[in-house]
Amino acid sequence: MPAQAQEKARTILKTMFGYDRFRKGQEEIIAGVLDGRDSLAVMPTGAGKSICYQVPAAAMDGVTLVVSPLISLMKDQVDALNQTGIPTTFINSTLTVRELNERFREIAAGKYKLVYVAPERLESERFVRLLEQLTIPFVAVDEAHCVSQWGHDFRPSYMSISRLLDVIRPRPIIAAFTATATDKVKDDIVRHLRLDRPLRVTTGYARDNLSFFVLKGVDKKTYLADYVRNRAADSGIIYASTRREVEECCAYLLKLGVRAGRYHAGLTEEERARNQELFLYDELKVMVATNAFGMGIDKSNVRYVIHYNITKNVESYYQEAGRAGRDGQPGECILLYAPQDVMTQKFLIEQGESDESRKTIDYGNLHGMVEYAHTTECLQKYIVRYFGDAEGESCGRCSSCTDDREVADVTLEAQKIFSCVARMKQRFGITMTAKVLRGANDAKVRQFGFEQLPTYGAMRALKEKDIVNLINVLVADGYMKLTDSQYPVLTLTAEAKSVLEGKEKVFQRVTPVKRADSRIAEAG
Ligand code: ADP
Repeated sequence: MPAQAQEKARTILKTMFGYDRFRKGQEEIIAGVLDGRDSLAVMPTGAGKSICYQVPAAAMDGVTLVVSPLISLMKDQVDALNQTGIPTTFINSTLTVRELNERFREIAAGKYKLVYVAPERLESERFVRLLEQLTIPFVAVDEAHCVSQWGHDFRPSYMSISRLLDVIRPRPIIAAFTATATDKVKDDIVRHLRLDRPLRVTTGYARDNLSFFVLKGVDKKTYLADYVRNRAADSGIIYASTRREVEECCAYLLKLGVRAGRYHAGLTEEERARNQELFLYDELKVMVATNAFGMGIDKSNVRYVIHYNITKNVESYYQEAGRAGRDGQPGECILLYAPQDVMTQKFLIEQGESDESRKTIDYGNLHGMVEYAHTTECLQKYIVRYFGDAEGESCGRCSSCTDDREVADVTLEAQKIFSCVARMKQRFGITMTAKVLRGANDAKVRQFGFEQLPTYGAMRALKEKDIVNLINVLVADGYMKLTDSQYPVLTLTAEAKSVLEGKEKVFQRVTPVKRADSRIAEAG
């Protein structure tokens, strides 16, 4: 950016926000905006996206619009900005008609530099008329992944954002922000928001202060009790997938004397607001919640996020787990994995009201998460790769990186599995394959005549559960793929074929991960 604009941006950062320097990515985006370029910024939670639109808003003439779905957060952000000296207001469904009229008048009179608006408002004719009268040089779209059906939080109202480009003259600069976007989601953002040759800024997805753990086969309740009590001084969030489980876990922790609170959509709005507040001010140490406790929680000192159940996809997981360590201090993100939780997620997809094509996407996304739970690769690297960065570095901290169990040669087992999958014509799922390998006396196995296969009973010595686990790891490691559907089918990849041909060996770690447990046992 021209030296003068740069100087201005730095001065605003220093005098209004009190920060000495820009963080990675911020200055580039701000320079782009001040230079008249659209941008698409992918920055992880806590990286400092807000500054990227707040500084230009303060520097430019006219009103900057910020489209955000985070209604519960708007008031806080608006209050904070007014304190820093940037006149700001918001427009959303919490306002009465009277308040709305008042704000419209004030906005039209040029009282504000920044206006936060919920996407639903863009569907209101009255609001659109108001926009036509204003000078709006810049529109920032927060949580931009909400515009994509491929994302984890599609909001139809985001589709109307591009209407702004038809009514605001001259066309404003648009900057889209998100913490998590796969390539497909990024393409959707560019297309639906009609970004014009946007500057693409990705600061990387890795969170260097977070350590990821996947724990399998632990007694979840006992684990939770030990972990939380050992970290009594720290704030943490425990995510569970159902209200009932939230209630149970919360009651259990309270009985143990932990200052825990609950949060889910079944509670009154007052209770939710109260609990969130108590947690924010450290009166509650632990929040047990469904994913309703969500987007935009700005508590910086959360030290751990435990997922009591698997999430429906990697995006949700990373976003929720990413609420740990926003202050840059170490945080732990722990997934307690149990296969039946995958069944629950499948059930939820099946019972949901989405159409078939949406369900197919949901099944595919769920597989991504199941793979995460089984991969032996660095977990941070897996996530970063999931979002499309090919070259991540191993973090050295996660349960995969710190896994010091023996590595075993499982080539023979893998060959049996691949050969069985091939003989079943790559038309069946994990459970059926495991049953055949186990030599199960099962009606369905007989119905297809699989008891005749040479691989029937080839892994008789193992339990079905262990065969399923082995198959999952082989999928996670890329030897096989699962089709996207309610009943995903195993297919072999080129790697599996080269194992079958004896050109490649397969190694796996064999005993369940205990790492984070044993550390706790030592501490306690
Ligand atoms: P995001 O929206 O990307 O999750 P925020 O915009 O909420 O992140 O910023 C996260 C935290 O980092 C906030 O507390 C913010 O004040 C702080 N922050 C942002 N930019 C800077 C900076 N340049 N220097 C120091 N702190 C910053």
